[in-house]
Amino acid sequence: MTTSVNRQILLKSRPEGAPGPDNFELVERPLPQAPEDGVLLRTLYLSLDPYMRGRMSAAKSYANPVEIGDVMVGGTVSEVIESRNAAFSKGDIVLGQAGWQEYSAAPGSRLRKLDPKAAPVSTALGVLGMPGMTAYTGLLEIGQPKPGETVVVAAASGAVGAVVGQIAKIKGCRAVGIAGGAKKCGFVKDELGFDECLDHNAPDLARQLEAACPKGIDVYFENVGGAVQQAVWPLLNPFARIPVCGLIAQYNMTTPFPGPDMFSVLRKRLLIRGFIVWDFADREQDFLHDVAAWIRSGKLKYREDFVDGLENAPQGFLGLLQGKNFGKLVVRVGAASGRA
Ligand code: NDP
Repeated sequence: MTTSVNRQILLKSRPEGAPGPDNFELVERPLPQAPEDGVLLRTLYLSLDPYMRGRMSAAKSYANPVEIGDVMVGGTVSEVIESRNAAFSKGDIVLGQAGWQEYSAAPGSRLRKLDPKAAPVSTALGVLGMPGMTAYTGLLEIGQPKPGETVVVAAASGAVGAVVGQIAKIKGCRAVGIAGGAKKCGFVKDELGFDECLDHNAPDLARQLEAACPKGIDVYFENVGGAVQQAVWPLLNPFARIPVCGLIAQYNMTTPFPGPDMFSVLRKRLLIRGFIVWDFADREQDFLHDVAAWIRSGKLKYREDFVDGLENAPQGFLGLLQGKNFGKLVVRVGAASGRA
């Protein structure tokens, strides 16, 4: 062990809008003790991720905020420097959640051993870690890309977006990235193999996006929100899917962005899907069977509001638009000759 000092970065204050250096504080603390059944770790790599902006804020989220004065949270790859757990030896490399500090102590149950021969260990924080998994699951489970479809993703050179576009290509899709600046766009196209990549700083992004997506957009993997989302929206094809993964363009906004609250969509995992009834035409027999049975058994009630005479149809209809009907509005046009 070379030092007895553990340097940590704490959350000093909560940002209003964009965070700044004053929101953090560097402190020196004594090294922690390895707990029984645990290990003492020296941090090798700390992951920095957009979600940390959310943890700096006290606003309601899917995860608890970091308390003022606490070490900032974060995924880490660390080396075991002392072990009190038979499953870990000195020198082992592990994935954990040590946060923004040079040393940490953790129970073995919170750690996953990494094999440095299998892949560079830093990738456990990126392409083979949480961001890669985010891309893989979000695109395949929610986006459900099909060969020939067009997939659009912003922050395309980043940890999540780069994987999204490349998996889209593997699945036979057209991958269109959006990124900040020519250098990132060049990388996305030339190195990652996206079909196209557009700079979101371009004043005519919407026009460029339309040109890059001649068959419209089938999957928009939402990483950023804001202006990019607005450019994407008019180009969405019928039955397009939008995995709502992140809204980084809006993280520092102090007033709500116009339109539906996409943070709620993300945080509450809301499913929003438009539909036309006949999309489900093949369920009609099930519907008739179930609903008729529920009516017969009294489990399902209904109410009708009758208007008499075809000539009163316009008035009835106009009333419906003003809420004058009470129940299903039906015009009694004529009496049936038999039973009705
Ligand atoms: P990145 O590695 O892509 O880094 C963030 C990038 O976001 C920046 O480099 C920048 O790229 C882009 N960006 C920042 N501000 C803006 C803006 N105003 N408009 C457009 N782009 C902007 O981060 P990740 O890949 O880790 O994360 C991408 C998104 O995925 C984030 O929104 C994040 O919160 C979300 N996420 C969600 C998870 C989940 O479980 N739902 C898990 C992991 C990430 P550029 O210069 O190219 O615009």
